Formats: sequence, C-alpha cells, structure tokens
Amino acid sequence: MHVLVLGGGVIGITTAYELLQDGHEVTLVEREADVALGTSFANAGMVAPGHAFAWASPRAPKVLLRSLWRDDQALRFRFHADPAFWRWSLRFLRECTAERARLNTQRKHRLCTYSQGVLNEIVAQTGVAFDHKQTGLLYFHRTQETFERGVRNMAILRDMGQAQQILSRDEIAKLDPALEPMKDKIAGGIFSETDATGDCAMFTRALAGVVRAKGGMVRTGTTVTRLEADGARLVAVHTDKGKLQADAYVLALGIWSPKLLGNLDKWLPVYPVKGYSLTLPIGGNNIAPTVGAVDEDNLIAYSRLGDRLRVTATADFAGYNARHQPGDFAVMTRKMQDILPGGADYTRPQYWAGLRPMTPEGTPVMDTGRLKNLFFNTGHGHVGWTMSCGAARVTRDLIAGRAPAIPLDGMTLH
Ligand SMILES: Cc1cc2nc3c(=O)[nH]c(=O)nc-3n(C[C@H](O)[C@H](O)[C@H](O)COP(=O)(O)OP(=O)(O)OC[C@H]3O[C@@H](n4cnc5c(N)ncnc54)[C@H](O)[C@@H]3O)c2cc1C
Repeated sequence: MHVLVLGGGVIGITTAYELLQDGHEVTLVEREADVALGTSFANAGMVAPGHAFAWASPRAPKVLLRSLWRDDQALRFRFHADPAFWRWSLRFLRECTAERARLNTQRKHRLCTYSQGVLNEIVAQTGVAFDHKQTGLLYFHRTQETFERGVRNMAILRDMGQAQQILSRDEIAKLDPALEPMKDKIAGGIFSETDATGDCAMFTRALAGVVRAKGGMVRTGTTVTRLEADGARLVAVHTDKGKLQADAYVLALGIWSPKLLGNLDKWLPVYPVKGYSLTLPIGGNNIAPTVGAVDEDNLIAYSRLGDRLRVTATADFAGYNARHQPGDFAVMTRKMQDILPGGADYTRPQYWAGLRPMTPEGTPVMDTGRLKNLFFNTGHGHVGWTMSCGAARVTRDLIAGRAPAIPLDGMTLH
C-alpha cells in the first residue's frame, strides 16, 4: 500500500518509520526545510509516563481564573475572539471533574507506557542517537502542602503500575548532588525511576535519515494546501508542488491538523497551548543536574541533554502565535537560578516557543473518522514526544487492519 503521511514532526516521522517496517511505500510531506522544526523542535525532552496527568482537573478552572489577573503564572489564560477557542475551552471545562481527570490520566498513562516500550525497540533496531538518558525523572515540591498533595495525586499512576519512590530533601540531594546546596528550598519529591530524557528533534532528524535509507520519501519544503474527498474516501492531497495521491493518508500536522481537515469531518478538538523553552550550554565550571526534573510548584521542567540544559515552562493560551521575546523567559530563568544557580551557563541562552497540540481531554485523536482511508495521529498535547512511538505503532496496526496492542477508548473522533 502507498501511504502519504502529512507532517514531519516527531509524530509524522515515527509513523513513517513504523509503516516502512510493515512493508508499505511511504511518502511524507513537510512544509519546512527540515523535519522537527515545528513543536517537536525544543521541547523539555522528557519521556515521562510518570507525569501523564490530564491537565483538565477539578483544580484547573480556579488556577486558570487566577491567571487572568496574575502575570507571573505558569498558566496564562487570555480571552480570544476565535470560536474554536471557546468551543475547546467549554469542552475542557466539562473534563474538569475528578472522575474525568482520573479516566483521562489513565488513558494517557497507558499510551505513554506502551510508547516508551516501542521507543526502546526502535532505538535497539536503528541505533539512533539523541542524548537518551534512562536515569528517571524527579518531580519535586517546594512546600510541604504541595508535596503532600503531589503524593496523593501520584497514587493514580501508582495504581496503574508506575514505579515511584517518595523522597525526602536529603534523599533528593543524594539522587542528584547538583541539588545539594539548595535542598532546603525543597520539601520533597517523587522519583519515577523508569522515566527518561532525550532530545526529541535530534531523534526525529535521525529517524528521518533511517526512513530515507529504507526507501521512504521525505519531501520537505512542500506545503499541504487542501485535502480532497470523494464520498467516504480521501482521494488527493493538494500541495504547493502539485497533487499527491495514495491508498491511505495520515494526518499528523500537530496544531494545524484541524485547519487542513476543515469541514471534511466532525470538529477535530486540537488547539494550541504555547510553552517557552530555554537551552543553556553546560561548561566545565557548572555543576549540572544529572537527573531531569519538574519543579511542581513553578511548573518548570528541565532535562540534561548532553552538554546542554533544556528548561521549559508555561502554558499560555495565545492562539496560533509562537512569537517570543527575551522578557518572556525572565521568570523561568530567575526560578531556575534560584534552584540550580551553577547548573548551566545562564549568559548564553537560546530561546524558543512552541505550540502544544492539545485536546481538552489530553488524549490524542487516532483511527479514522468519516473518511475511511484518512488516519488521524494528532493532538498529543504536552506529552507528544512520550506518546510518539506508541501512537505510530497504533497507526501502523490500524492501517494493516490489526487490533492495536492497547485499547483506543477516548482516543477517536467518533
Ligand atoms: C514547551 C514544550 C515542552 C514540551 N515538553 C515535552 C516533554 O518534555 N515531553 C513530551 O513528551 N512532550 C513534550 N512536549 C509536547 C511535544 O513537543 C509535542 O506534543 C509534539 O512535538 C507534537 O508533535 P507533532 O509531530 O504532532 O507536531 P509538530 O512537531 O508541530 O509537527 C507537525 C508538522 O507539520 C508541519 N506542517 C504544518 N502545516 C503543514 C502544511 N500545511 N503542510 C506541510 N506541513 C505542515 C509543521 O511544519 C510541523 O513540522 C512539549 C511541548 C512544548 C511546546
């Protein structure tokens, strides 16, 4: 079968790889000059089933409301005229019950765990290098109150089989000596020893190389302009370089997926949520962290990626706007310097902002909808790097007509 994959982020490239493994002819189109220049470019690098919580929770409406008048918040909610934003927000609010939060978290965790296993298989098959470190991830809290709440919340994942250790500040300092000088600012933490870190863009670029070497065609610099359907089938994809046709198609355009789908099917509930990313070089004088972590009180994540420290923060409802300026990074830089003052060279930052393709539930959309040869693989939100390989394997199975290894309840459009 010839399959056309739309989008060259981590989701599109892993899907292309998996489809080649099944013997398909694969063409992938990406509008940028290279793969992984969209949201997959500079994320926090965390492969984190241990942090697969749904954002929609009973506490979320209060936190979002407070962000309307406080500016240093990890969450920034702003009103927009865009009807898709309102539709998305209302559905998000409906997900903010304890029962829905638990269910969505369980579904996310199941896919994340499956995906980590597939990632490890792909690494063993291909040998791709991406500064992969399997040293676990630490989720620490600054106050006793949030620490106790964090331990209670983590029980959902523990019940799903996620390995966790609850650590005191002294045990945290032993786990990562970079935190020893500042340990008094930490109340305690939860260590997910099976979580990992790795550079998502490096992985995507390396895997695109494998895809090409296996005979897949990766057409960068090609913009999809329109999808053409006839009855219950997609018959062509129009691009700025001409019309492309295949037997099956995969929609993996991240935040742009709903725009291209238009009204060919039901509304695809994927909306951008902006995040900011700082990459800092690590020099000989730095005492860099050895274990990636999330400062849960400030919602700041950091990962050691080779000789760089990647730091990300903020969930900003800013529409389709990935612009940024140095001032946007001031609060996160200050908070990182507070906990890891010598952790990296703060004088040479690389700034970036990306748009998470979020669904209100936090689960991605997969499988087909009204068009029986168009497979969705989109809406992976804040854990798209973690979910990528599993979602690609699921898509491969669906295209082959096989039952995926995990149930897809809550992860389809219909
Ligand atoms: C600040 C931040 C931190 C994050 N941290 C983590 C983390 O630690 N762990 C984790 O698991 N996830 C993380 N994520 C989430 C993760 O990065 C995303 O879920 C994932 O990258 C989404 O991949 P994608 O392939 O769907 O989207 P993208 O990478 O955006 O890929 C879509 C591609 O489609 C292309 N495209 C769009 N329109 C067209 C068109 N018309 N024609 C052709 N091509 C087109 C784009 O150029 C793009 O390359 C983070 C995200 C952000 C923003």
